[in-house]
Amino acid sequence: MVKEAAIPSTGQGPSNDGRTNLAAVGNLAVKCVKCKEILYGRDLDKNLKVCPRCGYHFKLTAQERIALLVDTNSFVETDTNIISTDPLNFATRSQSYAAKLAEERSTTGLNEAVVSGHATIDGLPLALAVMDFRFIGGSMGSVVGEKITRTIELGLEKKFPVLVVSTSGGARMQEGLYSLMQMAKVSAALARLGEAHLPYFSLLTDPTTGGVTASFAMLGDVILAEPGALICFAGPRVIEGFMHIKLPDGAVSSEFVLQHGMIDAIVHRRDLRHKLSQLLHLYMKR
Ligand SMILES: [Zn+2]
Repeated sequence: MVKEAAIPSTGQGPSNDGRTNLAAVGNLAVKCVKCKEILYGRDLDKNLKVCPRCGYHFKLTAQERIALLVDTNSFVETDTNIISTDPLNFATRSQSYAAKLAEERSTTGLNEAVVSGHATIDGLPLALAVMDFRFIGGSMGSVVGEKITRTIELGLEKKFPVLVVSTSGGARMQEGLYSLMQMAKVSAALARLGEAHLPYFSLLTDPTTGGVTASFAMLGDVILAEPGALICFAGPRVIEGFMHIKLPDGAVSSEFVLQHGMIDAIVHRRDLRHKLSQLLHLYMKR
């Protein structure tokens, strides 16, 4: 349910110059979502978009995330030209899915909700796919599933470990069953990676929910999360609306899922690259 199209590269090859390349908020004042502090944009940029007062981790774009994690100029983007065929010819009263996709492409500069390729961290290679929440809430349709599967297959082919950075509202309803099928497809590719004794690292960022949580996000050999990220299958509002109960504060956070043994570690944004480097050395340097 995807096709190759002559659409220019999404990422324009992020120059991934570490900390300096996060899209600048600049001189703007930004209000912290969590502590409501008014922050000076430049201070926030310097702090990797983490609130200096309460530690809230603002969302990053896929390019920002790649710049933060991998060696300078090492990222090579792959599968840049895959787009959805809109298999259900889906439309709401206000807009067709095809029009929605075109709009998202133009506002985000991305082709889809994931950017994939290969890169190095401290000189050690890996295949990686990084989701971007700006594109229809990081939802997983056939293209996202296909690109992540191809990233895993790239790892298999080149004997690279695989990293997927998740941020997602779940499966994309506009592609119905085709979105749900991606859960099985990606999971099957990960099983093959496991059989080949290649490690899979999953990094969960705010928010990781729905079909993404229920498939590849939780299948990592090592599962890391950023502090305070929403991590769940059904979001708190859905649970509260359905069950008519009030969830305790933080019941669907990284800290909660760590406490309940679902993930391996919570890592502050500034330490992520170092942690991944340690893992790559541990698993791959023999
Ligand atoms: Zn704050």
